[in-house]
Formats: sequence, C-alpha cells, structure tokens
Amino acid sequence: MADFSLDLNEDQLQIQKWVHDFAEDVIRPAAHEWDEREETPWPIIQEAANIGLYSWEFIANAFGDPTGITFPMVSEEMCWGDAGITLAIFGSTLAVSGIVGNGTPEQIAEWVPQCFGTPEKLQLGAFAVSEPDAGSDVANLRTRAVYDEATDEWVLNGTKTWITNGGIADVHVIVAAIDPDLKARGHASFVVPPATPGLSQGQKFKKHGIRASHTAEVVLEDVRVPGSCLLGGKERLDERLARAREGRSTKVQAAMSTFEASRPLVGAQALGIARAAYEYSLDYAKQRHTFGRAIIENQGIAFKLADMKTEIDAARLLVWRACWMAATHKRFENGEGSMSKLKAGEVAVKVTEEAIQILGGYGYVRDYPVERWHRDAKIYTIFEGTSEIQRLIISRAISGVHIR
Ligand SMILES: Cc1cc2nc3c(=O)[nH]c(=O)nc-3n(C[C@H](O)[C@H](O)[C@H](O)COP(=O)(O)OP(=O)(O)OC[C@H]3O[C@@H](n4cnc5c(N)ncnc54)[C@H](O)[C@@H]3O)c2cc1C
Repeated sequence: MADFSLDLNEDQLQIQKWVHDFAEDVIRPAAHEWDEREETPWPIIQEAANIGLYSWEFIANAFGDPTGITFPMVSEEMCWGDAGITLAIFGSTLAVSGIVGNGTPEQIAEWVPQCFGTPEKLQLGAFAVSEPDAGSDVANLRTRAVYDEATDEWVLNGTKTWITNGGIADVHVIVAAIDPDLKARGHASFVVPPATPGLSQGQKFKKHGIRASHTAEVVLEDVRVPGSCLLGGKERLDERLARAREGRSTKVQAAMSTFEASRPLVGAQALGIARAAYEYSLDYAKQRHTFGRAIIENQGIAFKLADMKTEIDAARLLVWRACWMAATHKRFENGEGSMSKLKAGEVAVKVTEEAIQILGGYGYVRDYPVERWHRDAKIYTIFEGTSEIQRLIISRAISGVHIR
C-alpha cells in the first residue's frame, strides 16, 4: 500500500527531457536577443510549433495528465530557458484556461485549437480581464456586454489593459460586465473571433522584464460577436444572473474560475527562473576565487545557496500539491492555489536577487543572464493576482473572516 509518490513516471521523464532540451538548445540561446528587441519571438514560436510543443494537442495532453504534474514541470523547464519567450509561447494558454473554465464542450472544441493554429499558420490567444481601474479590484470592470436580441449578438465596449498578446492575438477572450450592480457575479466571458471589426490594439507597453512577451491595451468599440461566443451559453448565464439577483450562490465567477486553474502553473514558471539563477550562481560560486579560495568556501555564500535551493524545493512542493489537487478535483479549502503562486513568485524574486549578489558586479550587467532573471522574476509577484491579493485569498480562506 505505497500509493504516495513524488517520482515522475516514464512519460513525464521523457517529456521533461524533451522540453528541457528545447529550452537549453533553442530558448536560452535566444533569450538575450529577444529581451533586447522587446518583440514577440515568432521564429522561436515557429520552432516550438514545428516540434509539436506549441499545439493544442500537446497542451491538452499535458493538462489532461491525471497526476497534474506534467504541465507545471513543462512550465518550469521552459522558464528555465527564458520566461519572456515562454510567455510568448504559452501566453495563449491563459485564453485556453478562460475557454475551458467557462465554455461548453462545443465551444472548447471550436476555440481552443484556434488559440494555437498550425505550424503552417500560427495563431495566438489572449485573455483580457484587467482594466485601468480594475486590476486587483476585478469586480470593478467597466467593459460592458449588451445583448442585441434582434440579431442574437453581443455588443462589447471598453478598454482592457496589460493584456498578454493583446491586439496581436487571433482569439481574444474578454471578460465583461453584463450587470455591473452584481459586481463579479454579473460578469461573463466572450470569445472574440479572429479579425472581428472594432477590436484593436492600444498602447504597447515597454516593460521591466519578460520583454519578449507582448503586453498591450485592447480597445473594444462596438465589437459585435454572435450569441454563440458567450462562453457557457445564454441559458446558463440567465440562470446565474437570476440566482445572483435573488442573493443566492452563483459558484462560478468568470475571471476567478480562470485564475483558480492557472495560478499554480504561473508559480511553476517562477520556479523555472529561480532554478536557472540558483544553478548559474552555484557554478559561479565554485569558479570565482577571492582571497585565494573559491567564494563558495565562505559560509556567507554557501548558506545563501543552501537557502536558495531549500526555498525552490519548498515552493515546488506547494505548486505540485496545488496542481495535483486541481487534477484530482479537490477543492482549494485553504487557498492552496494562491499559496503556491505566492510562494513561488516571492522565492523567484529573492533567489534571483541573491544570485546577483553572488555574482557581484558581474551580476549587475547585461553580459550575464542573472540581471535579466531578476527583472523577469518580478512580474510573478504582480500578475495573476499580486502577492497581497494571494495573501488576502489565503487569509480569508483560513479564517472565514472577510479580511480587507
Ligand atoms: C506584464 C503583465 C502582463 C499581464 N497580463 C495580463 C493578461 O494577460 N490578462 C489580464 O487580464 N491581465 C494581465 N495583467 C494584469 C495584472 O493581472 C494586474 O496588473 C494585476 O492584477 C494588478 O492589478 P493593477 O496593476 O491594477 O494593480 P492594483 O490593483 O492597482 O494594485 C496596486 C497595489 O495595491 C495592492 N492592493 C490592491 N488592493 C489591495 C487590497 N485589497 N489589499 C492589499 N493590497 C492591495 C496590490 O497588491 C498592489 O501592490 C498583466 C500585467 C502585467 C504587468
């Protein structure tokens, strides 16, 4: 009776090696160039598509793993190569989470493949909830969706901001308010199909890190989408709104159900950056000599590395637990998804900072990758819910008190 195991199975070990090789041979060598160019690395996405790594079939298989561990493991390996490029390759998966979390089986079958396209015609997906006045305060969305009964269409108006792949994606999943008085319970998610008139890219942001990943505003001006683009369908929405208006529980909130599934995976990405920085600084500490000995021979350096490794492994256990819980349909009673993202994001920032310290001046310049890893790591305490918001979710879950 030894069911419990943290061993990866044969399939997982093979996938891990396959992805690691791609990260080592293709992603990492390209990381500096695309960080400097601050552009979507289309040639690298193309290479990922050519080998089947950028494809809905691969993502479906990885997501479908009954242990839940395959996708976080893949995310970690990819980000070990480079987080900006990984987000360019896997940014579409956020749209996939939005579709899978809220859509009907027919909608999932129609739209998920279109978030990736084919090696001959690459496509991207984007998931847009954040707005200038609604980041953490997601209930405060101003983007409106109004139903036009005469044409069975929804009309979307508003501005989204900070959107990964925003405006360059083929499939945009937009979270909009149907009934603003109901706050988050009055929200719904819509697919905006490729080339729909009225959707355009606003400002493209110049960022601190993950600069190979495109981040921009998405402007929606009288965007008309067919009724079938409402994820989950109108009947389910009407039932949900009726329950909310009567003050009864609605269970699903459009953006929240997406983030529930994606947070541990985002944590796994942060782990990849942290591990890269730890491994690099461990090697460096063995080679760099001062005062006639390797710097690792000083406890001050060796203990940093011991802490870095310990924290990374602790964070990975939280990420794997949350992914395993999600895959085995266990409820996050104590904010376990948030715990995993909180811990992994903060570990990545701390570990990359220590890596700079271990490299000294060499850590601070762009000739070495650790300064980039530090810049890249910082986003993991901000997007998909800031660290403060994760703490809010965990503290509310453990206390049952509406902490503010
Ligand atoms: C590079 C990048 C990519 C992104 N990609 C996407 C994407 O693809 N799709 C998408 O929809 N969004 C995306 N975002 C948006 C991201 O999720 C938000 O930036 C994030 O949720 C924080 O919102 P905000 O920026 O409005 O900050 P605010 O909500 O204004 O927060 C500001 C500060 O106040 C703190 N704070 C706020 N409320 C509380 C509270 N109640 N208690 C304690 N502290 C609080 C926050 O933690 C933070 O420190 C992206 C952002 C970036 C930077």
